Amino acid sequence: MWNKIFERLRLRMTFTYAVIFGVLILAIVFTAYCFIWWEILANEKQELVKKVYHEAEEWVNSGENPCSDNSVKEGSMLAYFVTMDGKKVILNQLGDGNCGRTIWKHRDRWPQKMDSTRILRMHGVDGDVPNTRYRYLAAVAPVKDKGETIGKLYMFENIEFYYAAAFRTLFKLLCVAALLFVFACYFGYWLAERNILPISHMYARQMQFTADASHEMRTPLAVMKLAAQGLAEDEDSSYSEFAQESIGMIQSETARMSKLTENLMALARSDEGILPNLKTEINMTELCRQVGAQLSLLAQEKGIVLQQHFAENLTLVGDETALNRLLVILLDNALKYSPANTTVVFTAAKSKGQLLIVVKDEGCGISDEDKKKVFDRFYRVDKARSRSQGGLGLGLSLAQAIVKQHRGTIKILDNKPCGTIMQVSLPL
Ligand code: ATP
Ligand code: MG
Repeated sequence: MWNKIFERLRLRMTFTYAVIFGVLILAIVFTAYCFIWWEILANEKQELVKKVYHEAEEWVNSGENPCSDNSVKEGSMLAYFVTMDGKKVILNQLGDGNCGRTIWKHRDRWPQKMDSTRILRMHGVDGDVPNTRYRYLAAVAPVKDKGETIGKLYMFENIEFYYAAAFRTLFKLLCVAALLFVFACYFGYWLAERNILPISHMYARQMQFTADASHEMRTPLAVMKLAAQGLAEDEDSSYSEFAQESIGMIQSETARMSKLTENLMALARSDEGILPNLKTEINMTELCRQVGAQLSLLAQEKGIVLQQHFAENLTLVGDETALNRLLVILLDNALKYSPANTTVVFTAAKSKGQLLIVVKDEGCGISDEDKKKVFDRFYRVDKARSRSQGGLGLGLSLAQAIVKQHRGTIKILDNKPCGTIMQVSLPL
């Protein structure tokens, strides 16, 4: 059995799995990206420090400049050589291009400690193309001549290429992550089905059992009811008071059991997703009148005034038996949970393209906390009272199932100063 409840559960589980897989995939992608980036930068920093030492040695030995003219012109590698106190410039290879000027403008951010490196992320200087950004790796090392430190050499490597490559890699990784995510969603959907299947089988068996058991109990109960009625009406026999009481008890309990089996069967059917016959057009005005008349006797017996107002020509496409049951449930509750000398108002009217059925009573009312629970099966606010009234706690859950099957809504509101308003709206 695979009904709407399980389909919704499956979608919810798929969503949860998708979120978990998505977070995992993103975490893996970003960790991998960070590791690769960190490795590349660490390696580049080491290489640049080595290069500074190497170029310093070359300069001391042969007077060769650290950067070629081409590198200075392109801004790919720049150098700046000063005395240790920074007062005298020995060699300036920053060039007169925008890169060199930008690096010079940010000289306070150059690495200070010997053999250290620093990434300089800078915006272009005035006169540069707006929003130009420069990314350089800077390194500094001492320059020694015959064991004596004669100055410090700064070298700046343009690492724009690495950033561009890193972004390209990240984009590709994210594309792979998106593909993996789609696959993960499918996998989650499949996994959810696999996990739900045993539960749904168990649920179906239980539903089948409830439906079968209720069905099997119908005939013996009908026989018992008839037999008890026969006994009660048998004028030839004279019963003791105890026997008469017992017959009365058998009659009321069999009536209760019949109602229970009917309700259980109806609920089992709605659980199975078997929709009632929603094709016939029903005259709701007539149906409301019938139910009102049917229950007005009960109202009279309890000393309750039952007021009825129905708009004319209210028609609805739905299941007549189910809607009849819905009205009985609402009215029965209003009469059952209201004391004598109160009024129950039963109305049906058209409102905003909906059929609005309202049952208003002046009874004990339902607390806000219980309003959510009364639709649960076998839930009764006051068990002893409800039982004494013949209540099983199935009425409202069945009413809710019928309303849902007709794509409507059911609401419980408070009646002022006391009592309950049951409001059902069904699409016309
Ligand atoms: P049954 O299965 O015979 O209808 P029930 O009336 O006890 O039994 P529900 O109709 O589902 O079960 O109602 C659940 C509970 O909600 C009731 O036990 C009652 O406590 C409370 N309730 C329902 N309608 C009203 C009402 N109009 N006023 C006050 N309490 C109500
Ligand atoms: Mg009820």
